[in-house]
Amino acid sequence: MPSPVGHMLAGVAVTWSILPQARTRVATVAAVLAAAPDLDLLLPVQHRTATHSIAAVALVVIVAAAVTREVTPAWRARLAAVCGLAVASHLLLDWLGPDPVFPHGIRMFWPLSDRFFISGWDIFRPTARTAIFSPAVMAHNLAAAAQELLLLGPLVWLLWFVRVKPAARFPAEVPGRHHPPK
Ligand SMILES: [Zn+2]
Repeated sequence: MPSPVGHMLAGVAVTWSILPQARTRVATVAAVLAAAPDLDLLLPVQHRTATHSIAAVALVVIVAAAVTREVTPAWRARLAAVCGLAVASHLLLDWLGPDPVFPHGIRMFWPLSDRFFISGWDIFRPTARTAIFSPAVMAHNLAAAAQELLLLGPLVWLLWFVRVKPAARFPAEVPGRHHPPK
């Protein structure tokens, strides 16, 4: 599985693909959501199950649509899409990476299926989640994070250059309170 560095870069990439004119805090929320499924490591549950599934993506879309009720409908749909796709990007990156722990992969289609899915392509380096402050594990995880930065950093930069920078030249479409016609 990739480190939080790779997942957060993917969250920013999702934001700038869909909402290049969004404020920094939208990209920040998306980055946190993209890394959040691994918080299951702190819970007494099996890793890479419910938080790594289409159910988690659907839940985040529903919550995002509920908490953005006061912005215009167009912004609300796009903000919900950014939040849902940020979580979906976590599933994609984990699916593309190696997983030495059995059962390998993620329970991507839970609750529709209990199967674990993994591509087997091992695009990212594995990260260690135990003894993370030992020098050997720190070096191992830093190398993994550096590789993620090399793979995803150029994509994020490209999106900033072709999407965010040009969008900043035009008057911002600021989301305001939506007043439905009386
Ligand atoms: Zn994960």
